[in-house]
Amino acid sequence: MDWLLAFTSAVLPVVAAQRLAVTVHLVNNVNAPSAELRSARIEAGLIFQRAGIDIHWVECLPTLVISGSEPACGRVNHPLLFVLSINGGVPPDGSPTSLGYALMPGYCNHAAALYPRIENIVKNHPEYSRASVLGSVLAHELGHLFYRSTEHSHGVMRANWEHSDFLAMSQRRLGFCKKQAEKLRQTLAERIASSGGAPMPRIIAGLR
Ligand SMILES: [Zn+2]
Repeated sequence: MDWLLAFTSAVLPVVAAQRLAVTVHLVNNVNAPSAELRSARIEAGLIFQRAGIDIHWVECLPTLVISGSEPACGRVNHPLLFVLSINGGVPPDGSPTSLGYALMPGYCNHAAALYPRIENIVKNHPEYSRASVLGSVLAHELGHLFYRSTEHSHGVMRANWEHSDFLAMSQRRLGFCKKQAEKLRQTLAERIASSGGAPMPRIIAGLR
């Protein structure tokens, strides 16, 4: 299993200039167009980049994950591995409106975006950018995982996005504020520190 968590320093406390880098496995369970996923990764990546966190993406086909034929996408229960799935269906809580969900038990490392619902929003609002909506959902759910919390606040972590939020994400204005970004980096650094006994992940050539 290849996974990465490279960071500039494991020394706490986190300072503003410190950047963190994590790897996220993106599992395309609904056969979403790869060009669309690539654009969404770029949008989500920019949101975290502005928060001082670099994301290295590994795109995983579900068949490769199940068969284990792609080592970089195998399932390993590790606190430093994040997995984002692009799914259909409904979330575990049955919410009729959620665009995604994050699984909080355990290491809090698995979340999903609900692709048909995102497609539907963009279909009804052609003024929204599909890539930015999907990318913002990925960033929102990843934010829950990094925070290890289901709490909502403002910006990309608002519970219910309104028209102005969708327009803002289309213009790359929706993200984490400075305070949210500091907390993100802090909680990620704590996760790194708490995994002290784990072997250092090997760096892989993640997609950027
Ligand atoms: Zn949420």
